[in-house]
Amino acid sequence: MNHSIEQKVISYRRHFHANPELGWLEYCTAAFIADELLDLGFEVKKGAEVMSVDDIMGLPNKDVNQLAFEKAEKVFGLEKMKPFANNATAVAGVLKCGDGPVVAIRVDMDALPILESNAKDHYPSQAGFSSKSKGVMHACGHDGHSAIGLGVAHCLSNYSDKLNGTYILLFQPAEEGVRGSASIVKSGFLKDVDYLFAAHLWSNMPLGKIVCSQNGTAATDKLDVTFYGKSAHAGICPEKGNNAILAAANTILCLNKIQFEGEGLRRVNVGRMEGGAARNIIADRSKLEIELRANSQIIENELLEKLERIVKDSAEKQGCSFEIKKVGEAAAACGDDSLAKLIRDEAENIDGFTNVILSDKENRGSEDFTSLMNAIQTRGGKASFIGIGASIKGKNVEHHTPDFDIAEEVLYPSVELFFNLAKRLSK
Ligand SMILES: [Zn+2]
Ligand SMILES: [Zn+2]
Repeated sequence: MNHSIEQKVISYRRHFHANPELGWLEYCTAAFIADELLDLGFEVKKGAEVMSVDDIMGLPNKDVNQLAFEKAEKVFGLEKMKPFANNATAVAGVLKCGDGPVVAIRVDMDALPILESNAKDHYPSQAGFSSKSKGVMHACGHDGHSAIGLGVAHCLSNYSDKLNGTYILLFQPAEEGVRGSASIVKSGFLKDVDYLFAAHLWSNMPLGKIVCSQNGTAATDKLDVTFYGKSAHAGICPEKGNNAILAAANTILCLNKIQFEGEGLRRVNVGRMEGGAARNIIADRSKLEIELRANSQIIENELLEKLERIVKDSAEKQGCSFEIKKVGEAAAACGDDSLAKLIRDEAENIDGFTNVILSDKENRGSEDFTSLMNAIQTRGGKASFIGIGASIKGKNVEHHTPDFDIAEEVLYPSVELFFNLAKRLSK
């Protein structure tokens, strides 16, 4: 075990945990990673070199973006921040070690809009590395993922003269809400990749357990639906208005039914609604934030078609117009068996993994990585999404909650796994 890299990875994780940034706002995170990769001798690709800026989905508010960029500019200076401007927060390190396969490892960097717990038994507060950004928190383990990515960068850099091939470490923005990977697929940055890996740490999976190919991720679409009506006095002449809130309400009720129509996993959720101006005015605008999920693309497409019909009917009934905007999407995907076996062989030789499972199909929601997997597989490459148990002894904390935490013991074995895979695939 390389003690210095292990310590380094833990300190990276704590740095990222203390400095969380939301999707598309990972300015400080990306600049920090770029500096580290450069120091380690990687060719560093930033922003538009890695992603297609025109294909960004689900952007944050402009003012919030401005503040986040200015904050990063103060720390890193304008020159360093320029390539990441306008939410182009992807960064990648490329290490060319002669002829051989192109091996890519993708990690994510974004945090969530959650106020971190300051309870005494919450380790990040106890050890002094809890979030410095109030209301933003690494509550899904992406701090650990980025730390692992940099740990692998150290190993590859130390070992580069013994490797044959090209190694890419891709740090992807905006995984939450499955918004980030489409822009990377569209850019073509990964078009020559032969092997693509990603892992997710799970706080609700026992430490020591690893699933070499997680195939239960669902297809999903995240949609914003807006209805445009006409305002009128609600007491004197409501008939002169077109009620956008009624259109939204009808949509919600009809949508709720479609998840019970047919076989397979179907999830439809309206998680947020807004609309109207005041109680005595017929609402001229309303907006719904919706997500659809299914365990096959066929079912997902069926849900999408039904949604479009319901929205259109509901709008027509009220004489409203409407707009459906996609703000995130992920496909269902399946890892390659041969790659899963290779991962299993390597994991079995690492002390930190005591329960190695080849594959599973457990439903763990959706994952932005699947779009990247599909893109690589379509071009004949191989890909796998690995699940790694990171539960803390005696605790059962769920993802996306204020008490979320991961067992740091898992970080170094995860680095070892990726590094050993890179060595194994080197020709
Ligand atoms: Zn998450
Ligand atoms: Zn996550």
